Amino acid sequence: MIKRLVLLHLLALPLQAQTFTGPGVSIELAQHRARTIHGVRYDLTLDVTAPDSAVGRVTTRWTRSDSGDAIVDFRGRRLTSITVNDKLISLEAFNGAHVVLPASALMVGDNAATFAFVSDIAPTGASIIKSHDPDGSDYLYTLLVPADANQLFPCFDQPDLKARVTFTLTAPADWRALANGGETVIQAPPGPTLTHYFNETKPLSTYLIAFAAGPWVTASSTVNGRTINVYVRKSRAKEADLDTLLAMNHRAVAWMESYFGRPYPFEKMDFLLAPAFPFGGMEHPGAIFFNENTFIFRERPTTARRIGRFSTILHELAHQWFGDLVTMKWFDDLWLKEGFATYMAAKAQFALDTTTGAWKTFYQSNKPAAYGVDQTAGTNSLWQKLANLDQAKSNYGAIVYNKAPSVLKQLNYLVGEEAFQKGVRQFLTDHAYANATWADLLGAVGTAAGKPLDDFGKNFMLRPGMPVVEQRLTVRAGKITRLQLVQRPAQSLSGTAPWPMRAEVMLAYSGLPPVKIPVELRERVTEVAAAQGMAAPQFVFANHQDYGYFLTLLDSASIRALESGALGTVGDPFLRTMLWGALWDQVREAQMDPMRFARLALREMPREKDEQLLPAIVNRLTRVLTTYASKAKHDAFLPEVERVLWAGSIDTARPYSIRRAYVDAFVSVARTTEGIAKLTSLLSADSVAGEPMRDPTRWEIVNRLIVLDLADAQRRLAEQVARDTTPDGRRRAFTAGAARKSADAKRDYFTRYFADKSLNEDWASGSLGAFNTAEHADLTLPYLRPALDSLPYIQANRRIFFLGSWLGAFIGGQRSDSALAIVRKYLADHPTLPLDLKQKVLQTVDDLDRTVKIRKRWN
Ligand SMILES: [Zn+2]
Repeated sequence: MIKRLVLLHLLALPLQAQTFTGPGVSIELAQHRARTIHGVRYDLTLDVTAPDSAVGRVTTRWTRSDSGDAIVDFRGRRLTSITVNDKLISLEAFNGAHVVLPASALMVGDNAATFAFVSDIAPTGASIIKSHDPDGSDYLYTLLVPADANQLFPCFDQPDLKARVTFTLTAPADWRALANGGETVIQAPPGPTLTHYFNETKPLSTYLIAFAAGPWVTASSTVNGRTINVYVRKSRAKEADLDTLLAMNHRAVAWMESYFGRPYPFEKMDFLLAPAFPFGGMEHPGAIFFNENTFIFRERPTTARRIGRFSTILHELAHQWFGDLVTMKWFDDLWLKEGFATYMAAKAQFALDTTTGAWKTFYQSNKPAAYGVDQTAGTNSLWQKLANLDQAKSNYGAIVYNKAPSVLKQLNYLVGEEAFQKGVRQFLTDHAYANATWADLLGAVGTAAGKPLDDFGKNFMLRPGMPVVEQRLTVRAGKITRLQLVQRPAQSLSGTAPWPMRAEVMLAYSGLPPVKIPVELRERVTEVAAAQGMAAPQFVFANHQDYGYFLTLLDSASIRALESGALGTVGDPFLRTMLWGALWDQVREAQMDPMRFARLALREMPREKDEQLLPAIVNRLTRVLTTYASKAKHDAFLPEVERVLWAGSIDTARPYSIRRAYVDAFVSVARTTEGIAKLTSLLSADSVAGEPMRDPTRWEIVNRLIVLDLADAQRRLAEQVARDTTPDGRRRAFTAGAARKSADAKRDYFTRYFADKSLNEDWASGSLGAFNTAEHADLTLPYLRPALDSLPYIQANRRIFFLGSWLGAFIGGQRSDSALAIVRKYLADHPTLPLDLKQKVLQTVDDLDRTVKIRKRWN
């Protein structure tokens, strides 16, 4: 209703006023304000004692350097009064999106405006998220990124109008509170409430303002004079290993300080484990929020999960410098902070955790995801044009999270370690507590390296897409006569010009050390002249150490060699991981029979010792089985796969992480009579993979029984629900409901995704995979079109990552031609679909397209 009101209002306004006061924050408005407004301060007071609304008051002070109106953004529930420089202004100045403060009420220089307002508190769709605990407690926390600060309070909502914030919060008397600034005083006014006062902060971008309130339990630790506090909800405090988390945060901040050459830039550094948090973490200065579910281990974590948690901590800590101290000017440069945080996390992991292979982890968690999107017709460049802040959500995805750090790795390799660090330090010094763009970063690194990086910027920041590099090897009489690397764009979005890059080619020899040759890829065809005349290698790999940003297509001789035994003899787990990745790319390109890959996997799995690589091989094996194989092939192959997975899971000679990968894969595919018998036997077992059996595993098994619609599945579910009454148990019970194999259950859940106002996004997105389980593709196919039709609603009403999970689940649960046709028809029916939505659909459907091709070619 508010939306319609806004539109009616706008029709009467002149054109420029429309770009300034229309919905969201247009780039024109942001640029105008950045030029004319300075020295912003917010004095923000909120009362959160009511169940579904916050009553607030904010006094905004700023210096003005023009003579026009001032426009303030607000889309909370209600504005109740506006005062400018002590003069009351009519509420007609508010159009549902902005308040126009008339020039006549403003002064030359310093100004102050006070707004009284009311904003929503809700489980979903509000700037203050409310999480209700099964123990009866309520917890509140904010999540304003990227465009919701103005949903909480009237403000100049754009990253380059940084403001000092003084915050006061009134909450129930038995609650604790946390905000960006340190807490100074707590006062008990008359009545059952407490008022918390927080110090004025350093200059912050609006999206980084945060608070949390509730009956939290806290712990703290002090190292070298720095105290860090952690907040967790009462009902999960016992399960959380807070001491470990505190210690990891201390190590992370110390490493970042030494690398960046500047102290931690904010007053204090606390963190919160947020319940039902829709992200992995959020880097609010002084008040970092982490996802409670991924930070509390209910059973022994695998190596990968343990590393993942530490990487998240490192990522959010790196943001304190990259993102919080220096912020992108506008969300078109979102990649700058996200790419850096992930890249720095890997560098820190390399320094702090020398046993797990940080660059192997980096490859595995970034390259397949980046290439998976950058190869598609829906990809975009790192720098993404953004006309209005209310579309900023669309800029999130694999390009900023996975391609950006990969490009920074190439940049670091290109300029060397010393110049890279020097450039980064200069960049932070030049723009501290202010804003910058990608050009500023390349300028600083380029100066430090003594070489211009304009070309690099054009090809990696501004150009969408990526290259595929094909290895061509000619051997005669036991010697290399020619080795060529042939580049082509993965798709035709940005022309056929090659991407200039540096990489390291490796020639492997049996029983001899490998030969490594640095190469410059400048032309379409790169002759590796140094290889000419060398003895014929066992195999070649064009991207040794993963410096290059390109998908490698191996030459046929190398594939043959790897398949016939060489792969298992590669001693370096990092290289082995990339070679498995390159073989999987052959499958995804429909150039290798997936069953051939599966056979190789079955043969190599018993001797694979790497705790991160083995799970990746097992996952690809099960993907062949469940997605690429025809029904006949699946049924014929399944008993053998079940046998191998089961044997791996009970092999006491294998370490926990490896046995765990076997268990998880077994639970996800078991369906023969024998397999189901083993599955149910696990439910009453005391241990699994050598560790005590705990509820998360029991839930996975029960889920599988429900997916298969077995006779006693509902009874098992009821038993599990009764047994696990923890918050995590409630969440998993909701997911299990989505896994039911019935049209009614699917209809019920699909309706709830939109109609159930008490359903939080974390639960909803957690259940999408179960809803769309591949075995139920026939039941869920009818929802594919409605799921696509709902994209504009989801984009407007759900948080950053929900749309991607939604598309990924609904399209990813399908593998048929008819599903592909539905997606294509949707695109054809909507020729004017906004580009960002169209790109998201194209990015996601690419994998289905490949699946259909692979199934046709090899079945
Ligand atoms: Zn981040």
